[in-house]
Parts: sequence; C-alpha cells; structure tokens
Amino acid sequence: MPAKGQMKKETKKQVKRALKKPTSHKKQILQSPKGMHDILPGGMLVREKLYKSVKAIFEFYGFNRIETPILEMEELFTKTVGENTDIVEKEMYAIKGRGGQRLVMRPEMTASIVRSYLEHGLHRQSQPQYLYYIGPAFRHENPQAGRYRQFWQVGAEIIGGEGDPVYDAQIILIFYKLLEELKVKNITVGINSIGGAVDRQNYKKKLLEHYKDHTKEICKNCVRRMKTNPLRMLDCKNKVCRGVIEEAPIILDNLSTPSKTHFKGVLEFLDEANIPYILRPRLVRGLDYYNKTVFEIFTGEGEDSQLALVAGGRYDYLAETLGKRSTAGVGAAMGVERVLEVLEEQNPAFGTVRSKKSIYFAHVGQLAKLKSLPLLEKLRQANLPIISNLGKKSLSNQLESASKTDATLALIFGQKEVYEDNIIIRDMKTGSQETVSLEKIVKAVKKKLK
Ligand code: ATP
Ligand code: MG
Repeated sequence: MPAKGQMKKETKKQVKRALKKPTSHKKQILQSPKGMHDILPGGMLVREKLYKSVKAIFEFYGFNRIETPILEMEELFTKTVGENTDIVEKEMYAIKGRGGQRLVMRPEMTASIVRSYLEHGLHRQSQPQYLYYIGPAFRHENPQAGRYRQFWQVGAEIIGGEGDPVYDAQIILIFYKLLEELKVKNITVGINSIGGAVDRQNYKKKLLEHYKDHTKEICKNCVRRMKTNPLRMLDCKNKVCRGVIEEAPIILDNLSTPSKTHFKGVLEFLDEANIPYILRPRLVRGLDYYNKTVFEIFTGEGEDSQLALVAGGRYDYLAETLGKRSTAGVGAAMGVERVLEVLEEQNPAFGTVRSKKSIYFAHVGQLAKLKSLPLLEKLRQANLPIISNLGKKSLSNQLESASKTDATLALIFGQKEVYEDNIIIRDMKTGSQETVSLEKIVKAVKKKLK
C-alpha cells in the first residue's frame, strides 16, 4: 500500500488531470471498427442491384431464401469447420453469454443452415432442399483489399436427397451464370475432389511421407500442420512451401472408386452445360466439413495468389458431425465485396445506378403542413414515389432539396390550395407549373411521370 501522503499527492494529480480540458489533442472522431465498413445509401443501391440478379437466378432455379442468426453457439463451428482451421483457431469473434455459454459471430453460414435444416426437420419436406442466403459474416482477419472483418456472402446450399453429382454441377453453374450476368470477365472454375474420409486418411499418410524429407525447409505453420491438419499444408502461401507442394503426391490418385465416379459425374455435367473448368489437384479448402468435390471461382487465371470470388464444395458428413443422421449436401458462397471490387474495374457501368423517378412534395404554411399528412397517405396508397421534408419552412429551401434529390416533379401545397382543394404540379426540368384539383392529382401525376 502506498504511504498516506503519497496517495494524497496522487489523488490531487488525478483530480487536476480530470479537470484539465483536453486542449492538446485534436477532437477524436469515432470511426467504424477496423475491417468493418459502413455501406452508405449510394453503395446500398449498387448492392441492391447485385442482389436483384442473385434473387432472380436463385429463384429461377427453385432456391428459397433462408436467414439464420448472426450469433451461434461456438460448438457449431468448432465441430464442423474444425478445431484446427484458421477460422476457428484465430478468426472467430466470441461473446460470453450471461449464462456463461460462449456464442460466436458467424464466420460463415453453411454450418448454421445445416443446423437450421436439422433443427426444424426440413428433411421431412421435399428433398433436396434448395436454400439461399444473403448476409454478413465475421472473421478477425488482417484487413486488406478483398479481405474484411465484416463481409457479406451470397450463398446457396442443396441439402438432403441423393448426393447426386448433378447437384454439385448445379451449384457451380448457378454461381458461374451469376458472375457471367454481372459481366465479370474471364471466369475460371478451379475444381478438385478430396474424396471421402478413408481416401483422405490414406492420402495424408502419403503426404506426410513426402513432407518428412522437407521438415527443415518448410514454414513453422506447416511443421505444426503436419501434426494437426496435414491437408492444410497444401494451402500454404509460403514460397518454400509452395515448392514442396508442387512435388507432393496428388489426392486425385488416391480416390476410392465411388469418389472417382462421383467426380467424373460432376465433370460430365459441367461439360454438358458448357461450364469451363480447370482441374486443380492441389486445391483444398480451409474448412474441415468438405468431402468429395471442392471448387473455387476466380476472375483471370485463378493463380494461387488470387482471391476467390466464390468457394464451395460437398459436405455429406456435416449433419452427422452435429450428431444427426447423414444428410448429403453441397453448396458455395460468394464474397459480395470481392465481386463488387472486380466489377468496379471490369464493368464500371454496374456502379452507376440511375436514381428512380421521384416526386417532391413541398408545403407552404402551417395549415398546408397540417393537411399534408393525410394527403401524403393518399399519394403513398397510390404507390407514388414521394419525397418530403415537412420540417422545412421556406418553399425555396424545399425546392432546393427537390433539385438535390433529382426529383422529376414537385407538388406545391399552400394555404390557397388548401382552401381551393387543389395543388400545383411543377415540372422540375422545365419549371412549368399547372394547378390540378386534389381529386385528380393521382391520375395527373402518373400521366406526367410517363
Ligand atoms: P480465402 O482463402 O480467400 O481466405 P476462404 O476459403 O476463407 O477464402 P470461404 O470461407 O470459402 O473463404 O468463403 C467464401 C467466399 O467468401 C470467399 O471465396 C470470398 O469471396 C469470401 N470471403 C471469405 N473471407 C472473406 C473476407 N475476410 N473478406 C471478404 N470476403 C471474404
Ligand atoms: Mg479465409
């Protein structure tokens, strides 16, 4: 314990410090957390445009939208994505619930959707279930272009049913078509099969055998992965490790007959559907739940350094890992920000969203303001795209807002108009005005908007 005098001196200092105004520091402006970004109204318009294509394609192919909570029990991801994956080891945001239970912000959605499928007995409905989602995911990564801590995924899953290779092909086809429709150039599908659990067990032995002679060269992470998750070594970006990977045996040579037949089936369907792909025999994914088909979609040549726009695969054992009966499944997720960034370069026209036609409602005086709310309601019920700022007083001020919002027409409602039961319609481009009776307003406005 400090001596009494010393404590007094400290307290005095603290009081003095607390009273002192923070003159030496500039006022700190609060910012959004690192790697997490605001999406302003202009950006939202562009996203909505992208989502419109997403919805049209997925709904055409019979997918239904699903939404799961942002928070999930931690166990959901440790069990399925896997304890020894980057996501679970170092990228999840955890929150301790009041009951001591650990919740995490979802780092991805597939596990959540399979959880939901099982929890709500979707296996009792027609199989397979075609589900799609649009929503944010959270990973504590090093932020850089195309890599954020909060990012949006558009994903699709085909769950239940027969585990037929046609479903793998359909998932790939849908995302391919989506990117094509968005005018992404040079779409490349990289595909591989990582077989079943036994195939991988056999392959891991061969892989470790190969790595045994290179333990002195490879990076620290790979030395660790040799013990924890050898397949992940194939995903290492370290230059020396890449060399070792080049020489490594490939999993395709180690597949069992059913896995081979399945993979051949997927490729045949892709060929028939004219979806170009390249075999990537060393492609493995960063999540443990995959088996058989895995794939990534890129723009360009799909080199190792490139960020994938879409990634996915088959996960026939995910449901079993959650303690339920085996349920076939295949799916993929697309990174919304990555696609938007590519579009900015390759199809800049995508980002110029024309604002919809709108009508600015301006009022003059207290009486007109009072009568405005019921009148606006009438216009809303007629589905007219109205904008108003009833808090503003002067007409010139309101007309200035009308110009700023690019309104096509302005409606001007003053005291005289209230008494005479009419309103002025102003063409914002030409400035010409016309007075019409309130009874005929909807018809007159619709005519002018055409
Ligand atoms: P990467 O190897 O690039 O880290 P991943 O294997 O972790 O990707 P998935 O978990 O399969 O990615 O997610 C599917 C898609 O989501 C990715 O292909 C990518 O487009 C997008 N994505 C993943 N992580 C991020 C992130 N941190 N920021 C933005 N988009 C991301
Ligand atoms: Mg990742």
